[in-house]
Amino acid sequence: MQTFANYTYERPNIPKVKEGFYQRLEQFQNAASLDAAIDAIDELNAIRNHLSTMYNLGFIRASIDTRNEFYHNERDFFDEHLPEIQELDTAFYKELLKSSFEPQLRDKYGSQLFDLAECQIKAFSKEIIPLLQAENKLTSDYSKLIASADINFRGESYTLAQLGPFSEDPDRETRKEALEARQSFFAENKEKLDSIYDNLVKTRQQIAEKLGYKNFVEVGYLRMQRIDYNAEMVERFRKQVEEVIVPIATKLYEKQAKRIGVDSLKFYDESFAFSSGNATPKGTPEWIIENGKKMYDELSEETSEFFQYMLDRELLDLEAKKGKESGGYCTYIEDYQSPFIFSNFNGTSGDIDVLTHEAGHAFQVYSSRNFSVPEYYFPTSESAEIHSMSMEFFAYPWMENFFKEKVEKYKYTHISDAIQFLPYGVAVDEFQHLVYENPDWTPEERNQAWRNLEKKYLPHRDYDGIESLESGAFWQKQGHIYEDPFYYIDYTLAQVCAFQFLKKSQENRGKAWQDYIDLCKLGGSKPFLELVQSANLKSPFEEGTVEAAVSFIEDWLDNIDDQKL
Ligand SMILES: [Zn+2]
Repeated sequence: MQTFANYTYERPNIPKVKEGFYQRLEQFQNAASLDAAIDAIDELNAIRNHLSTMYNLGFIRASIDTRNEFYHNERDFFDEHLPEIQELDTAFYKELLKSSFEPQLRDKYGSQLFDLAECQIKAFSKEIIPLLQAENKLTSDYSKLIASADINFRGESYTLAQLGPFSEDPDRETRKEALEARQSFFAENKEKLDSIYDNLVKTRQQIAEKLGYKNFVEVGYLRMQRIDYNAEMVERFRKQVEEVIVPIATKLYEKQAKRIGVDSLKFYDESFAFSSGNATPKGTPEWIIENGKKMYDELSEETSEFFQYMLDRELLDLEAKKGKESGGYCTYIEDYQSPFIFSNFNGTSGDIDVLTHEAGHAFQVYSSRNFSVPEYYFPTSESAEIHSMSMEFFAYPWMENFFKEKVEKYKYTHISDAIQFLPYGVAVDEFQHLVYENPDWTPEERNQAWRNLEKKYLPHRDYDGIESLESGAFWQKQGHIYEDPFYYIDYTLAQVCAFQFLKKSQENRGKAWQDYIDLCKLGGSKPFLELVQSANLKSPFEEGTVEAAVSFIEDWLDNIDDQKL
């Protein structure tokens, strides 16, 4: 059997690939029969899959070892040619939509492919290329500025990521000073951060106008491929979060203050959940993976087969090691039908989350691997997170293997974090609606809007006089706001769906699991609300869904004596 290390990488010859692609596209245009059109589509998809396979192999291998010059050059090569590769997709989509066989192809593949194609076409025109380039330049200015942070804290220098662990330090003074150090970076770079965002908003407004839209909100939704819901529905969802979740979250912060022994919870206390420390996995990385295998073997036949597939082909790179990039992800190597999971185990409960969350993504794409349409391997992002977040819950019965006597503490933290995230998540979403509906706002007006949203969604929040935070600049640390406009509500919508799976799994585990498996097999072949419906879940946009999804969670949280965890 071939393992990941033996998957063949070869740099594609772009001009030759393009030539072959356009030849087949012509065959598709001139297809005399439906069968001929389908054959041409299959060949086009084979070319697209092969390109994506090479891209992914280069990307993964460069991230596993940043010192590997060969793969770094290959990744740069792809970055450079990405616009050309995307042009191939657009060319294909245009022909697909105007094909004389369109109705029959829609029958065969389902409408989703055509709706996705339309989103991409509506969000693009040749005219906006210079603006897109300007937008890319600005987002990379932002990520470079954030990565360049060299922050002095108690005589040592740190990046923003390296400062992270101090937010959980048992010593309150340390947490406070670390936060002040972090914010001094944002305060010193205020003008740069404001100007990058200001330019981004103005550039995006121009893109919207050139494409014929009033403002960037619609373009943002098209880019996120939102096919069956709109901004008004999202607004109604945020309202439910405000009414139902904010009071629960506030109660959780009050309990936390008591637990860690402070009179009033300040912002620098929020990440410090327990004086006795957080629940951590009780073993080495090898032990975690072994237990993971046991868990997936016992969970179901399907997951057992999946996890063995990942192990046999060596598609998991989980341990932190020298030269490895930070972070974690799950991707898919098309030609080898291989999901791939990348992470950096660090001894925290996050290691187990990788094994459930990223493996949830991987299990979904594994379940969808036989689709002939590459667009259907993964669903759009709000749906994709349902699989991963729900797997975290389906894995609950096995958490005792990892956390031993601390298992209740783990679950309490996991669920509290999920609840507390929702108000923040919708605040980030509402902020972006306001910003793009008011493209002429000054940086001060944006900060004021953010501060107002914090009062609405995070009423417990107390910045203890730290100037840049009091003035409303917190949002500048949230990369999505700069880099992926409107990519955020996705996590909150999926979380509410995952809560529903948790509830169902407690009522009738067999039925809930079958719904989950069916959902995974549908991959990205349907839009969000249709996927939700086919999994027998309620739409998060429907009045009452949020409350119904979390009331049992609230009861569970209320009944736990968190002081004793
Ligand atoms: Zn995810």
